[in-house]
Amino acid sequence: MTETTAERLNAVRQRIARAAAAGVGRVPSDVTLIAVSKTFAAEDIRPVLDAGQRDFGENRVQEAQGKWPGLKEDYPDIVLHLIGPLQSNKAADAVALFDAIHSIDRPKIARALAKEMDAQGRKPKLFIQVNTGEEDQKAGVLPKEAGDLLALCRDELGLEIAGLMCIPPVEEEPAIHFAFLHKLAGELGLKELSMGMSGDFETAVELGATYVRVGSAIFGDR
Ligand SMILES: *Cc1c(COP(=O)(O)O)cnc(C)c1O
Repeated sequence: MTETTAERLNAVRQRIARAAAAGVGRVPSDVTLIAVSKTFAAEDIRPVLDAGQRDFGENRVQEAQGKWPGLKEDYPDIVLHLIGPLQSNKAADAVALFDAIHSIDRPKIARALAKEMDAQGRKPKLFIQVNTGEEDQKAGVLPKEAGDLLALCRDELGLEIAGLMCIPPVEEEPAIHFAFLHKLAGELGLKELSMGMSGDFETAVELGATYVRVGSAIFGDR
């Protein structure tokens, strides 16, 4: 018998709860599960909505525009997270559709978002993405530049930054990167940590994640 997406969703929720219980001073409600639905169609997403999941993640603005407006009509309390790289010419669309943006990684994007949030009167929750592995082609601000980007967002642009996000290098031990992001957020006075995917979300929860982004463990292989 093959598992349904609702069953896989529940299994992921239980694993998060267990990992949270294992962490010192943590409760499962500290952690928000973002179900990453990229590449999956609205019909694949509906059973997960019916199972009670409301936070979803997409990595491309254009793809999200194709499937979420219709779903939002049926489920008005959906919380949509942009977890992929953002181009400044897509900032208006991103601000209009998403409730959280996890991928601020340079001044140009911060400025474009500030302008659009002001124009549209919308305030998505914002995260700065940090390239913790300092990989050449990876999105994210370098760790040593994160403080300056945060200062620009807050002091010059008036943006409220909720926390930090990272995607560890595939070939490295993720725990090192999660612990590092946790420490950096503490130094910068930020509370939220967006970290952990299907292969490592329990480790992320144990190391302080407040948002985990889980795709294939819920929806199956892409
Ligand atoms: C696709 C994606 C995820 C989810 O990955 P899985 O391994 O399928 O859980 C998480 N975060 C980001 C930024 C992604 O692009």
